[in-house]
Amino acid sequence: MADNRTAVIIGAGIGGITTAVYLAKNGYRVSVYEKNSSPGGRCGQLVRDGHRFDLGATMLMMPGVYHEVFDSLGIKLEEGKDIIPLNDLYTIFFDDCSQLVFTPDRERMKIQLEKIEPGSCERAEDYITKGYRIFRLGMDKLIGRNFYNLFQMVNLKNIPLLFRLKAFTTHFRYARRFFNHPHLLMAYTFQNIYVGQSPFDAPALFSMVPAAELTEGSFFPSGGGMFRIVEKMLVAAEEKGVQFHYGNPARQIIITGKKAGGIILQDGTEVKAGIVVANADLPYVYRSLLPDKRKSARLDKLKYSCSVICFHWGLDKVYPQLVHHSVFLSDQFREGLDRIVRDKSVGDNPSFYVHAPARTDRAAAPLNHDTISVAVAVGHIDETRKQEWDRIRDKTRKAVIDRLKRQGLEDIESHIKFEICYMPENWENACNISRGSVFGSLGHNIFQMGYFRPHNRHDKYKNLYFVGGSTHPGNGIPNVLISAKLVSERIIKENRAEK
Ligand SMILES: Cc1cc2nc3c(=O)[nH]c(=O)nc-3n(C[C@H](O)[C@H](O)[C@H](O)COP(=O)(O)OP(=O)(O)OC[C@H]3O[C@@H](n4cnc5c(N)ncnc54)[C@H](O)[C@@H]3O)c2cc1C
Repeated sequence: MADNRTAVIIGAGIGGITTAVYLAKNGYRVSVYEKNSSPGGRCGQLVRDGHRFDLGATMLMMPGVYHEVFDSLGIKLEEGKDIIPLNDLYTIFFDDCSQLVFTPDRERMKIQLEKIEPGSCERAEDYITKGYRIFRLGMDKLIGRNFYNLFQMVNLKNIPLLFRLKAFTTHFRYARRFFNHPHLLMAYTFQNIYVGQSPFDAPALFSMVPAAELTEGSFFPSGGGMFRIVEKMLVAAEEKGVQFHYGNPARQIIITGKKAGGIILQDGTEVKAGIVVANADLPYVYRSLLPDKRKSARLDKLKYSCSVICFHWGLDKVYPQLVHHSVFLSDQFREGLDRIVRDKSVGDNPSFYVHAPARTDRAAAPLNHDTISVAVAVGHIDETRKQEWDRIRDKTRKAVIDRLKRQGLEDIESHIKFEICYMPENWENACNISRGSVFGSLGHNIFQMGYFRPHNRHDKYKNLYFVGGSTHPGNGIPNVLISAKLVSERIIKENRAEK
């Protein structure tokens, strides 16, 4: 058995790499084994013919969390240099071709909101103030801490807290207290899809997302998009002596009695370690890398987030109609979400998001060409509700192109030089994400958060830890950075106590 200062990490997603930096900084010898040939996982990068695409994550939100984690690791992250503030967060395009630019500029917001619904500006500001209060409270009490036992979360003292966190009403119902116009209801709730959930089901706690965006702003990493965040972490890890092994999937976690002893790689090589950290999707780890069949069956019964179809297009034309982040919200907003969540499919007129990074980072596309990624939320893979995914892909592509044409991009189809498409099955295969549920994978209802979310340490094998979107606190780079910080603190504390 290797000594308890030797750690092996399964997966070089942002969660795995950040944990590696924390542990190496605290004197651990760390090696990371990644199944793919490059790092980043869902925050990876695709480059083709001079076009640079962010594979998954595109928005740097909640910069305070990035600063906290980067500062604690001694990594520089300068606003205006490393990360560029965006003047506008995104432009929302509605089906009647009207637009709403989401911007921290209060005057511009006021003019737009009053045009859509007179009197709504004041209520929108109230919604954002309250949402940001929930964000701060949530960070303190629910997201930014380790839960070591159930009573830390469920106790009489915390019941009023759960009401303050708006845990018992749905996000959409809550938004109705502030807005009447359907465009505003959609504009202030669609962000729930960032965690793969419908605002018609998710708790109003998630009103903290638009609130955090509008209060703290949105940023974009210069010189390479979101993958720059991964690269910065990677440099810090390598400087601290972390060893990375790409194209090297773990096949099994070695279990001896009540301890994890390391991993077995696909080619049969054994890598011994005193600490094992799984960054790979947690339900996948229980299902495929551990002997824990009963727990795996229990995880299977939990709720999973939705999936996404991504079309990455290299274009030989630039369309000024598209801004850096464009959100197209459909009049069939609710129907579309129901088709995703209940039918595990997609609506006929889906809402979608378009990323055009060259608006901020000119080098993301060759001169006079453009780099565009379209993301459409869809149901996850469900054995009980089999879908004809090829038909869904074609139908969705057509719906997206028709909608873009109506926005004035009439000839877009003829300017697509190449297309790279990621379907739910591709996400499952590429990163081992259960059911292709990329925003979690586990969902984020209140019974799958905090202490109720699968813990960041195995209940029986006390030197096996988890980091990433499917453990506490949840999906999204800020949460995953927090996850890395929390699990590292836990490893260091427990290891110290064991000595
Ligand atoms: C389309 C899309 C858009 C998104 N947009 C945003 C956004 O704008 N902002 C934001 O903050 N977040 C966004 N997210 C979420 C964000 O990308 C994820 O939460 C985050 O990248 C997850 O990181 P992770 O480390 O938990 O997991 P992953 O990135 O999945 O990393 C896990 C790694 O483990 C590897 N692995 C799996 N199995 C094995 C094995 N057996 N052996 C070795 N390695 C293995 C995988 O290949 C992968 O590299 C988005 C996600 C998607 C899919």
